[in-house]
Amino acid sequence: FKEIKRPLFFKKEDGKRRAVIKVGAGAKMSYLAKHAARYSLTGIERLVGIPGSLGGAIIMNAGAEGTEIGPILRSVTRITRNGEIETLKREDLSFQYRKTIFPNEPGIIIEAEIELEEGDRSEIMTTMDRHLSRRAQTQPLTIPNSGSIFKNPEGDAAGRIIESIGLKGYSIGKAGVSIRHANFIVNKGGATAKDVTQLIKHIQKEVKEKTSIDLQTEIVIIGE
Ligand SMILES: Cc1cc2nc3c(=O)[nH]c(=O)nc-3n(C[C@H](O)[C@H](O)[C@H](O)COP(=O)(O)OP(=O)(O)OC[C@H]3O[C@@H](n4cnc5c(N)ncnc54)[C@H](O)[C@@H]3O)c2cc1C
Repeated sequence: FKEIKRPLFFKKEDGKRRAVIKVGAGAKMSYLAKHAARYSLTGIERLVGIPGSLGGAIIMNAGAEGTEIGPILRSVTRITRNGEIETLKREDLSFQYRKTIFPNEPGIIIEAEIELEEGDRSEIMTTMDRHLSRRAQTQPLTIPNSGSIFKNPEGDAAGRIIESIGLKGYSIGKAGVSIRHANFIVNKGGATAKDVTQLIKHIQKEVKEKTSIDLQTEIVIIGE
């Protein structure tokens, strides 16, 4: 479930070398990006800092700095509700901001193939390093959090908007808007789900009142 196979290289009509990697859905995105880099494969290096599995990244159409997982998929294999194994091609799926739409009912992703292009290994490594150090500087990675809370509105950044209305550091219970990045809510120790959801609602209300912008959540809230 976590296996990452060696890339299979081929040449396209344009003469460029590309490769397909078969990956178990449980493989970590960081391992996958580093594995691809070892073979000088470009296209996934900007996703190295996304915590989580390939399966989760596919469901969420995870992305960073203009790269999303959707376009680099070649196929996705799932177990359907009635126990059948089906393989969908990229063309069978459609991708939205942080959401992949499947043509039929939900299933459990077991593996996927990603297709990448051959690039310059040192450039790929430099991009990964730059990306990881930027995250470490701008995100509260040492305090428990669930990543970006809100989707970025078209042409703007949710963090910038929240900061602009003075909510950086604002807390409800033990949940607080991160001082480091206002689109992150951190657990300052013992925060409840209620603290977090109330804080989310408060931010949405304040942002709407002060800027007329409707912030939509990027995180998926389960339960009441
Ligand atoms: C510090 C931090 C930074 C983050 N930065 C980013 C970022 O830059 N970009 C970004 O897009 N996200 C980011 N995230 C959010 C999160 O890491 C991604 O959405 C990630 O892709 C989720 O993967 P996961 O394996 O944790 O999935 P989960 O969060 O466990 O699951 C996500 C969804 O996918 C479903 N799912 C998971 N695996 C499978 C499977 N095998 N088959 C079917 N359904 C499945 C789950 O049921 C759930 O609905 C960040 C989170 C944190 C905490």
